[in-house]
Amino acid sequence: MEYDAGLTDRRRQTRSNIYRYIYDAKGFCSRQSLARDLGLSLPTVYQNLSKLMSAGLVRDSGEQQSTGGRKASGLSIVPDARVAVGISVTEHRLRIAAADLVLNELAYQEVDNGPIHRFADMGGLLAQVLEEFLDRFAIDRGRLLGVGIALPAVMSPDSRYITAAPTLRLKDTTLEGLTDSIPYPTYVENDATSGGHAEFFVRGSGRNMAYLSLENGIGGAILVGGAPYLGDNRRSAEFGHMCVEPGGLPCTCGAQGCLEAYCSPRRIRGAFGVPLEEFFSQLECRGPRAGEYEALWDNMLRHLAIGVNNIHMALDCDVVIGGVLSEFLSPYLPRLREYAAGINFIVSDAANLHLSTLRRHTVSLGVALHFVTEFLEHI
Ligand SMILES: [Zn+2]
Repeated sequence: MEYDAGLTDRRRQTRSNIYRYIYDAKGFCSRQSLARDLGLSLPTVYQNLSKLMSAGLVRDSGEQQSTGGRKASGLSIVPDARVAVGISVTEHRLRIAAADLVLNELAYQEVDNGPIHRFADMGGLLAQVLEEFLDRFAIDRGRLLGVGIALPAVMSPDSRYITAAPTLRLKDTTLEGLTDSIPYPTYVENDATSGGHAEFFVRGSGRNMAYLSLENGIGGAILVGGAPYLGDNRRSAEFGHMCVEPGGLPCTCGAQGCLEAYCSPRRIRGAFGVPLEEFFSQLECRGPRAGEYEALWDNMLRHLAIGVNNIHMALDCDVVIGGVLSEFLSPYLPRLREYAAGINFIVSDAANLHLSTLRRHTVSLGVALHFVTEFLEHI
């Protein structure tokens, strides 16, 4: 552990177990329950806590509980003892979020971004935007674990090369230079995979999950017991490019009839030129163009149901819909479930279809989560 390098492995493990116990505790956590549940003596617990407290990682929670006449005081971790930053790169915008150790959002900012031709050119911009963000929100660089960058791209297994990034209109491109100007640890990941990790973390159920991310580019992640199933070439869960209508609408990938061509929020903007907020408020309050809006939306829902059903058929697990479009889907979830169940011969209710719990900034938080997980694994 960085604040006490002289520890032996066994002692380090004990301290790590104590920290993780407090981190994972759902209710009241005391020194006594720690000693009892971890099979440690009270002096060992006190000694380790004193180190964890002086390192600013654990504190008294201020709660008290009676344990047979004596009052025991509660313990909690210090969530903002460390901070991680995630940057989601999209075709027009950079979305930057800072998160603490329990993935609470500490700060968020969007920055407009021109077309990307080469990632090397982008590295300088990212570094500059990042430093401004850290200054603006007074984020202590000493607590910064690292900076994650999420890209809407299919990447090589070593994250150094992009095979395809249709929404960025890039193909076979190197990522060299992207992170060189950032003076902190960096990590690059696919955007939907990042979103899936964040959603799995906040759900906390441990259930297998397929995450379907409805951004302009549609992608996903498959998490089996929390571990990503990446496929042989790291191209798994490219749900956006499943065919849902043979010979149908053209897709950014060059094919026709992809889920992305039918269910991307871009389709709404393309058809009516209105922001999503306006589209859905018109739909709900039956505004003047509600008839046309409803026809498009129903078509989107029917194709989305085909996509969801395909995922259910292939993977037999919870399907969780996230991304920007999921923010508006709640009133339409019963209809989507009905359509999905209508084409599935096994189930009658599509009850394992859910909307993401983390409604906003999922990708940015998800790529920041990489550093939180790493911190927890190595503490
Ligand atoms: Zn496609």
